[in-house]
Amino acid sequence: SGFEQPSSSNAAPATQSGDPGEGGTTAVRKIKVGFSMDTLLEERWQKDRDLFRAAAEALGAEVIVKAANGDDAKQISQAETMISEGVDILVVVPHNAEATAAIINKAHSSGIKVIAYDRLIKNADVDLYVSFDNEKVGELQAKAITALVPKGKYVYNGGAETDNNAHLFKKGVFNVLQPLIDRGDITVVYDQWTKDWTPANALGNMRDALHANGDRIDAVISANDATAGGVIQALGERGLAGRIPVAGQDADLAGAQRIVEGTQTMTVYKPIKALAEKAAELAVKLAQGESVDADRKLNNGKIEVPSVLLEPIAVNKSNIDETIIADGFHSRADVYKNV
Ligand code: BGC
Repeated sequence: SGFEQPSSSNAAPATQSGDPGEGGTTAVRKIKVGFSMDTLLEERWQKDRDLFRAAAEALGAEVIVKAANGDDAKQISQAETMISEGVDILVVVPHNAEATAAIINKAHSSGIKVIAYDRLIKNADVDLYVSFDNEKVGELQAKAITALVPKGKYVYNGGAETDNNAHLFKKGVFNVLQPLIDRGDITVVYDQWTKDWTPANALGNMRDALHANGDRIDAVISANDATAGGVIQALGERGLAGRIPVAGQDADLAGAQRIVEGTQTMTVYKPIKALAEKAAELAVKLAQGESVDADRKLNNGKIEVPSVLLEPIAVNKSNIDETIIADGFHSRADVYKNV
């Protein structure tokens, strides 16, 4: 290929780019970071792409981004291409937690480390996991909804079963619900995954849940705002939107708008900028052969993965201004556009 960076474990760690021309005697070369994404079709991942690129570039690195749009074979082959193009490190948002283990094996045989970004990769020697505390995301949702509806019939509309986060979110929700279920206060009358996280599949789930229960549902926890959108559409079809508490996640603009309009109760805000900056900082360090501090460990079925987990924030109508709007995640004008 003519590119001379050797891809072997003996390769000298890349040096952070400084001012190569200015009086330095050592040649410096930009660190190349490969960012392998599941999809760019959802709002949050576009933010992740832009903020990660900006953060890595600010550290003097160069970023190559590829998105697979939910196609596992494509995500693996895109990662292979980046490895052969000489990236110094791979940062991966896996579509499928299991399938992407292949990326780690390929990268490691070329001496390249892999960071799992936001979503964990299972059954592989992941070098580092950088995400939010995803179990806590589910706990925040369930705490907010059970405070409003301490007794009754619940629907849990989960995320994509192929995404490890969906399992962590659900675990967090049931950490809070289980004692109430055991006491007989809450019954979960419907509990399904949402294939590929799509609003259309969530709409189908919620129609089924309403139909099976003669519309008698008291609360819904949906794994993210995209799926909450489908849930609320189904509630709307039965004249129930705004009458049944619904939780989501991501602080998507549509979710934030529904909160001020009153059809969605809460969302979980995850400051993407903090995640992108943390991941970029650690990617550059790992690429330079430095060790990094990770205070948590998460088991991925093979190893205890060193993990850095940021704090998610519960947002409802009463604190939306001081959280997502104050942070500039969305403008006030956009959030309140329809009210
Ligand atoms: C992310 C969520 C996102 C979902 C669907 C999850 O892994 O953590 O923020 O809404 O994937 O893309």
